[in-house]
Amino acid sequence: MPFFLIAIDGPAASGKSSVSRRLAARLNCACVNSGSLYRAATWGVLQAGVDPADPEAVATAVSALRLDSETVDGSLQIRVNGLDPEAYLRDPAVAASVSKVSSVPAVREILTGILRSLGSSSSLIMEGRDIGTVVFPATPFKFYIDASESVRLQRRHAQGEADSLVSRDRQDSTRRTAPLRIAEDAKVIDSTHLGLDEVVSQVVDHLRHQGLSVPE
Ligand code: C5P
Repeated sequence: MPFFLIAIDGPAASGKSSVSRRLAARLNCACVNSGSLYRAATWGVLQAGVDPADPEAVATAVSALRLDSETVDGSLQIRVNGLDPEAYLRDPAVAASVSKVSSVPAVREILTGILRSLGSSSSLIMEGRDIGTVVFPATPFKFYIDASESVRLQRRHAQGEADSLVSRDRQDSTRRTAPLRIAEDAKVIDSTHLGLDEVVSQVVDHLRHQGLSVPE
């Protein structure tokens, strides 16, 4: 199969991660959750004792972090100054600050560079907020997965996670640099009334229509 990059964007808890993982299993490729990298950088900022609301201090702190990322067994493995941040990525403190840290242009420049390099040598599915618009704008395979706010809140609640997703979405959609928005050439899927299987099958149908061969 030729090299491909599939971009999946959308607001928090719209189902992007589940769809990406299912699709990655079908296509036998890696699946990169770019939000984890933003969360890892935010964890590094908090660990350094820096105020996430101070953009200049955040830019300096993130530039000083050693962020190593690679795909291992099909998913993203991150190290922050040599440490594995995985256990802390969904901490309420990280969730509450990640949109502030992500709005800093210097942070986006660094992390966008890391994300692009992950997609430079092998096929992958990457999910996030600006993958189809900024990270891989040239890929023809772009999806925007949405769901109503109440359904997304229900889904996050069912995961047992405290998440300020309404406030995160507001900040992510209104920031100046790389806001969450629908790429002009993205296929939009509203998953409000759809189950995971139905969303995956719409994505697969679209990819096949675009000429990508997707195994059963
Ligand atoms: O996907 P997840 O909800 O884990 O993302 C956490 C946060 O990371 C988002 O709310 C957003 O602020 C930031 N993010 C981003 N750009 C991406 C992916 C995530 O700004 N491509």
